[in-house]
Amino acid sequence: MGLAAGAFGWALMIWLASQFFSFSLGIGVVIWVVLVGIMVVADASKNQQKAEAQDSKKCVACAELIKRDARKCKHCGEPQSV
Ligand SMILES: [Zn+2]
Repeated sequence: MGLAAGAFGWALMIWLASQFFSFSLGIGVVIWVVLVGIMVVADASKNQQKAEAQDSKKCVACAELIKRDARKCKHCGEPQSV
């Protein structure tokens, strides 16, 4: 009886410890995933901005960003010199 209770106590301790570690591990994974996600999103938006900057120019008339190849401004209709 005493042995069984001790074994049960140990099992409980080990179970609690494993719960605690898996919880910490879970938090660690969540933080890691969030950080990586932020980095990926930040990098993607940076690349997108760069691509947009390379692919666009400012309208000479209204200064809105338009496609570099545009012949006419989509905002004000001003003809663009390519
Ligand atoms: Zn314009």
